[in-house]
Parts: sequence; C-alpha cells; structure tokens
Amino acid sequence: MPEVLKAPLAVEFPFTRSLGPVQSAFLTGLRERVVLGVRTGDGRTLVPPVEYDPVTAEEIRDLVEVAPTGTVTTWAWNHEPRRGQPLDTPFAWVLVRLDGADTALLHALDAPGPDAVRTGMRVRIRWAEERAGSITDIACFEPYDGEAAQPAGHNGEFADAITGIVAPARLDYTYSPGRAQSAYIHALGDRRIVGERCPSCRKVYVPPRGACPTCGVATAEQVEVGPRGTVTTFCIVNIKAKNLDIEVPYVYAHIALDGADLALHGRIGGIPYDQVRMGLRVEAVWSDDARYPDHYRPTGEPDAEYDTYKELL
Ligand SMILES: [Zn+2]
Repeated sequence: MPEVLKAPLAVEFPFTRSLGPVQSAFLTGLRERVVLGVRTGDGRTLVPPVEYDPVTAEEIRDLVEVAPTGTVTTWAWNHEPRRGQPLDTPFAWVLVRLDGADTALLHALDAPGPDAVRTGMRVRIRWAEERAGSITDIACFEPYDGEAAQPAGHNGEFADAITGIVAPARLDYTYSPGRAQSAYIHALGDRRIVGERCPSCRKVYVPPRGACPTCGVATAEQVEVGPRGTVTTFCIVNIKAKNLDIEVPYVYAHIALDGADLALHGRIGGIPYDQVRMGLRVEAVWSDDARYPDHYRPTGEPDAEYDTYKELL
C-alpha cells in the first residue's frame, strides 16, 4: 500500500473593503478609544453597529457612544489559541454587552482559566497600545470590579476618519488527498499520468477521487492515460494572480487526455493565446523538477473531431 500523502495547505487572500459612514465611525472611534453604537428606530443601541435597522431595514446613522465597561452574556473557553487570534495564551471568547448597549460584541477575555469566567461577570476593554482603526484596537477584555464608566457622549465625527480596511482572510489546513490521488501524485513523479477505472460504468477518472460519482462505487483499477490529449474547452486568463509568475494573457483549458473519460485542467503554452481552440491536440510538458505537468503544448497533430470529445467539455 503506497503512502497516503498529506501536506499543509493555506488558503489566504487580503480582502479590501470600504467602510461606509457607520463602520468608518465605529473603527475610527476605536482608534480614539471611543466605542460607538448605532440607535435603531425603536430606540435600541446596537454595538457593534450596523448600517440598516434589523427590524425595519431602514438606513440608520444615529451614532451614540457607549461605555468601555460591560457584562459577559455568554462565553466559551479557547484552550489552544491559533495564529492570528487576539491572545497567544488560552483565553475566553466572550459576548460582552457594553454599558449603554442592547446587543453584545464578540471579543477575547484575558482570564487565568475557565474557572475565572462566568456569565454575568463585569469586564472592561483593554486597549491596544498602538491603534490604527481596527477591531484589534481592542486588545481584549479584562475582569473589572469598578463602577460602570460614563461615556463622554461623542457624536461620531472624527478628523482623519478611517474609510477602508484590508482584512486578511486565511484558512490553514492539513490536506490529505486520500489513497487514489496519492497514487496519482506518486505516479506523476515517474512522469506517468494514472487514473482509475470504475468497475461498473468503465469510465476512467483522471485525477481519480477513489470513487465513481455516477455509480457510487469505489474505483481501484489503475489505468495509465495520455500524455497526449485534446483541448475540450478553455478560457483566456487576463488577471495576474499574486505569487504566480505567468505572464497574462494565457490560456487555461480543460484537457481530455487520451484514454480518460474526465477532462482535467491545465495551462496551454507553446502557442499564442489567441490561436488556442477546441479540439487542439496537446501533450504534457513536465516541470523542471519533473513532479507534475507544468503545462501542455501543441503536438502538431490535426485537431480532434468534435464528436470525439463532446462529452468531455
Ligand atoms: Zn461508474
């Protein structure tokens, strides 16, 4: 039994968004150590604020300052903080209803252990030393025994307001492709493209997923396909991807390798992008380290007849 592979996989992109008047005031306020909520038509104060009344859907902009002190309404202990979380020691995720607010804000509470946390406990904001107009300007909450702080009544008008933010989104996985795709990847190392045949409908899947999605049965019979194939459909890519050293425009195609009953994806090279066409015959060109096909290039054969690949678009 060959080794089933696994590897770290991070999906990451910076999400740039404009804020609009309400979120702009909220985040700029945090920079100035002021917490702002928004008043709804029925007189409730929402913190964090939203742009539209959740009951009437009317636009709302009536900003009101609330206190940096509040009450925990519910919580959960986080035993193992992960990269990018507010604290790097175990902490509680808490919903805090700040004094003057009717809704609760999600944040971290710095506490020595779960025994030190309870619903109803009083807390206050611990401000970050350096603040830039972000929810992380609140470093965390901390237990607090004193009086409720009195907000100064800020109206939400600031000089040099924050108008946009870049929110990094990142998902960390340990990815295992499973038995079938591990075998596929091992075979690529020998410059062989190996799929699996369904024992019921006889289709050959490349790359193999380990089961036939039509018949619902496991696949095991290995079948070598390619290295030549046919472009069944394609698109021209005009947007350069970050960290990808490929000049645009280029063509990304569905390629039905000879012997396969499923098209796989690949980049087409060795031909001007505007000459790529359905039916073009191509072959794999291996990466410098020969671990995978880097792209596919024309073989010079006559184009394939549409009827031979029309089920593989
Ligand atoms: Zn099948």
